[in-house]
Parts: sequence; C-alpha cells; structure tokens
Amino acid sequence: MSDNTSHAPTVQCPTCGGPSVFEPANAWRPFCSQRCKNIDLGAWAAEEFRVPAQTPPQDAQYGDPRTED
Ligand SMILES: [Zn+2]
Repeated sequence: MSDNTSHAPTVQCPTCGGPSVFEPANAWRPFCSQRCKNIDLGAWAAEEFRVPAQTPPQDAQYGDPRTED
C-alpha cells in the first residue's frame, strides 16, 4: 500500500449536504462548519416549539393514600 494521500474521512453534512471532514479536528462533525451545526440546532428548537407542551396529570399528586386522614 503506497497510498500516502492522507485524505481524512468525509461524511455528508446533514445541513448543507456538502462534504464534512469527520475527524477530531472538525469540532462540528458531522457538520461541515459551526454555521451548519447552528442551523441544525435551530431547526431542532423550532420543532420543539411547534410541539405543545403537555402538562403531567395532576392526580399523581393526589393519589397518595398517606394523605388520607
Ligand atoms: Zn454544511
């Protein structure tokens, strides 16, 4: 094996679809850049805001038999 071309493994950036260097030197992997990572995180946050927050059932607080006198 005389292939000494040290090309780092690359993956497809989930945000822009471009090549992303997948190695410790790339702090934003699997994204290609901080910008793409922030975009993805922003998309996640947007999805979270679209989901209505569900309040837990309150009978869990009144279901304790020890509170019965
Ligand atoms: Zn990207």
